[in-house]
Amino acid sequence: MLLAAVRAQLRPHHPHAPAHLALLLRSCSSSSSNSPSSPSSPNKTATWRKLNRIPTSAALNPEINPPIADTSTPAPAPAPTTTTASKSTGSFFPPEIEALYRGNQRFRDAIAASPTPNVLRDLAKQGQRPPFLLLDCSDSRVGEQVIFSAEPGTLFTTGNVANQFHEHDLNSKAVLAYAVEALRVKHVIVMGHYGCGGVAAATLPPPAETGGGGPVDEWISPIRRIYETSQRPEIVRHRERRKLELELKKEGENAVTSPLPHLHDPAFRALVEENVKANVQRIARSAVIQNHYASLAAHPEHTGTGVFIHGWVYDIETGEVADLDVTVGPPGQKVPVTPFPTRT
Ligand SMILES: [Zn+2]
Repeated sequence: MLLAAVRAQLRPHHPHAPAHLALLLRSCSSSSSNSPSSPSSPNKTATWRKLNRIPTSAALNPEINPPIADTSTPAPAPAPTTTTASKSTGSFFPPEIEALYRGNQRFRDAIAASPTPNVLRDLAKQGQRPPFLLLDCSDSRVGEQVIFSAEPGTLFTTGNVANQFHEHDLNSKAVLAYAVEALRVKHVIVMGHYGCGGVAAATLPPPAETGGGGPVDEWISPIRRIYETSQRPEIVRHRERRKLELELKKEGENAVTSPLPHLHDPAFRALVEENVKANVQRIARSAVIQNHYASLAAHPEHTGTGVFIHGWVYDIETGEVADLDVTVGPPGQKVPVTPFPTRT
């Protein structure tokens, strides 16, 4: 039942994909905002044909390629369910991949037209020195570079289902160590998001009660423990209601179900926030951060260079980022104030 519920919540457009893969699928809402447009110059058109290995004559065939639009007219988005393909040439343009290709073209055009057209070349030569490590969710609606309008070289990022950090997870440890010890980031940000499918699934009965289980269930088990033990009133009420539902179900009330919480459910939002707070604490207690703070204490001349760990939450409906006001910093150092609205 758990996996079925996760599937229903997380991949309404991919009903046959495995649940753990569904968590990583890109949502329609994000891809629809990235509608492709046609190449805007003859050179780009030539490159476009070359990339897809299509002869010029074939490229003019509207059955193989959509017509190249006039640069003054925005091109309509391709139909989302059709695949531009030619059996004679063996060339395929799955529309979702074509959208990425055209988006990449637009990105390069925007860099070239920006006040810093050499930013990519400069970064490639000089290396990165990002001030931030951002740990967020793999959810496609949380585009970390996009929501901050961040320049390349700003955010060192890592993500997983429900933005979790665990000391026993080698990837988590390696990313944090590299960010703190090699890149010398100034801030580590754990950013959760409302509507998180991984957090929602943690409110359902554990696999032992449903006969389910699997890597996603295992991964979200720390969030389930937060749900089971939190004293936040919204979560307590939700938990008590769910227990009642389960008892009724055991008594034969088949109509009673434990659905995934609604996006605006106060308990769901509270659990998203509590999960962020728990991960801020895990990072603060990690060997990497503890060694970093010990090193600062041993070298007073380095005071002022310590890493701060923040807990933020992103609203997928409004695009707003809020600060949960749980920042942890080097012992004795005042934590910085942020301009983001505070949510506690
Ligand atoms: Zn999520």
